[in-house]
Amino acid sequence: MSEYSNDFRIGCHLSASAGYLAMAKTAVGIGANTFQFFTRNPRGGTAKAIDPDDVEAFLAFSRDNDIGPILAHASYTMNLCAAETRIREFALNTLLDDLYRMEFTPGNLYNLHPGSHVQQGVEKGIELIAGALNTAITKDQTTWVLLETMAGKGSEIGSTFEELRMIMDRVWIQDRLGVCLDTCHIFDAGYDIKDKTDQVLEEFDRVIGLDRLKAIHINDTKNPFESHKDRHETIGNGYLGLETFRKVINHPGLRDLPFYLETPNELPGYASEIALLKTERTGT
Ligand code: FE
Ligand code: FE
Ligand code: ZN
Repeated sequence: MSEYSNDFRIGCHLSASAGYLAMAKTAVGIGANTFQFFTRNPRGGTAKAIDPDDVEAFLAFSRDNDIGPILAHASYTMNLCAAETRIREFALNTLLDDLYRMEFTPGNLYNLHPGSHVQQGVEKGIELIAGALNTAITKDQTTWVLLETMAGKGSEIGSTFEELRMIMDRVWIQDRLGVCLDTCHIFDAGYDIKDKTDQVLEEFDRVIGLDRLKAIHINDTKNPFESHKDRHETIGNGYLGLETFRKVINHPGLRDLPFYLETPNELPGYASEIALLKTERTGT
């Protein structure tokens, strides 16, 4: 990600309906220098065709305005370890199509929820997820595939660093594989990022390696510690509180990463959260 300036990299989730250039312009308009978007309808379904003119205009605009790295989020319904073969095949085809599309904007990030094992057990789920990743990830791809830390709702895999590590250990091509850490999710999962920030990051480093961390989802939470609920709150108004985010965005192990808000907001709300976080940022 060295093609970007050393500025604080902060953005939020944007609607992809008007295309890449529109998202980049919206980002600039709200004080962001990056953004996240869904590769397709969050509930799944077909993705809009890539418009080469839009992509070209976006790439030029991003270069001129220091935008990126952008983070594409897979649809929530893409369950690589579903129990039903038909659902699993659909998920794999979605993954393949998403990664194909990502190469039109090279070198960016693609985040996915590892999956829910739906009574097959964690072990089986991990096998299936790694198998799908091994089918999809190619040696010459430029896109980073990131596994998101999960809250542990239902049978979600990836609510412990160990589970993510077990998936990653089974993937053959390692050099474009990383993790996206979600502050709401890890607190929900039982990692005290609020009061034990350093210890949690040390544990991440020990189990997965901080060098594998490529993006942060910066969300407050509507629920107390270890509740496994996954309900995001606006920054400073949940159980994490502004002080947590001050630590997270300035932490030496995290501060050079891109931060993406997924808080319950419309654009003006995102603009003020971005402005707030910028005032909380220390150093240059
Ligand atoms: Fe997510
Ligand atoms: Fe997230
Ligand atoms: Zn979430």
